[in-house]
Amino acid sequence: MIWDAIVIGGSFAGLSAALQLARGQRQVLLIDAGEPRNRFAVQSHGFFAADGAEPGALRGLAWQQVLAYPTVQFRQSRVHSAQKLANGHFSVSDETGQQYQGQTLILATGVQDTLPDIAGLSQRWGKSVIHCPYCHGYEFRQQPIAVIATGEASIHQASILPDWGPVTYFSQSTFIPDAEQQALLKRRGVILEDTVVVAVEGDGDTISYLRLADGRQIDTRVVYVAPKTAFGHKLAEQLGCELEQGPLGAYLKTDAMQLSSVPGLFAAGDMASPMHNAMLAAAAGVKAGAAAHRYLMLG
Ligand SMILES: Cc1cc2nc3c(=O)[nH]c(=O)nc-3n(C[C@H](O)[C@H](O)[C@H](O)COP(=O)(O)OP(=O)(O)OC[C@H]3O[C@@H](n4cnc5c(N)ncnc54)[C@H](O)[C@@H]3O)c2cc1C
Repeated sequence: MIWDAIVIGGSFAGLSAALQLARGQRQVLLIDAGEPRNRFAVQSHGFFAADGAEPGALRGLAWQQVLAYPTVQFRQSRVHSAQKLANGHFSVSDETGQQYQGQTLILATGVQDTLPDIAGLSQRWGKSVIHCPYCHGYEFRQQPIAVIATGEASIHQASILPDWGPVTYFSQSTFIPDAEQQALLKRRGVILEDTVVVAVEGDGDTISYLRLADGRQIDTRVVYVAPKTAFGHKLAEQLGCELEQGPLGAYLKTDAMQLSSVPGLFAAGDMASPMHNAMLAAAAGVKAGAAAHRYLMLG
């Protein structure tokens, strides 16, 4: 069978794209590996009419609604390779070796996070170690905040976070702000600390303090890190997509309607945006779905 559209990734972006195509009565194959980026968080915030919802519940409802359309089918699997064929169609193969062909392809596979290697940090990811104040910052308002620097994006974090509480910027002796950045952080009341953080300490998911290399303990309730992001697959490379560089990592270049540099190939969500947010991913998915539908109609 040749599908009208194959959507890879079944979360905020992919499900939104599939829904538009389903409502256009198109044959859609949705392939998802089941590891959405925010699976570490207990609640999702800032989503229209669903602030504080449990991420799995939110996605579960969307799955139920999308799969109710008779033209949508689902495979739980991980796609390993993809190529554009001479006839303009797309062929993808999953981890079982199964191959599928579609007239259009929508990539909505999100990104994977790499965190700094500090004891006690990664197990608290999405709970008390976070990256986005709009997502989880309110829950830690007016409590001691640490930014453990990983690069340029950490300066941005530290400069906006004083609106949520008292901030210390830990440069890890590596990401030392230049004079202009120091002036900005000083203006915002941020404390600068160059001694390296060696451990995040506390009970369970909570944080009591950061342990520094010189033995000091710094009272802390929440740690912000800017992760490094990557696609976690070679699909964009295999398909010859153009990329752009964002503050956390590379993302797929698309036009205003989510069309990539490859005709018939659309991309949406975190993997196609420098700004990562569930609502933005869902909105981009809507555009990708509608644009893929238009491509099927008009070429
Ligand atoms: C800890 C944490 C907390 C967050 N909290 C919030 C919040 O409160 N509010 C908010 O708005 N945003 C939040 N975000 C950001 C939000 O998670 C993302 O913006 C959103 O998930 C992006 O949606 P997406 O559909 O692009 O990708 P994802 O949700 O990451 O979904 C991608 C899907 O594609 C699948 N996939 C990947 N590769 C393949 C493959 N090769 N084959 C098949 N399937 C594949 C994955 O398994 C996954 O199911 C948070 C992020 C993190 C890391």
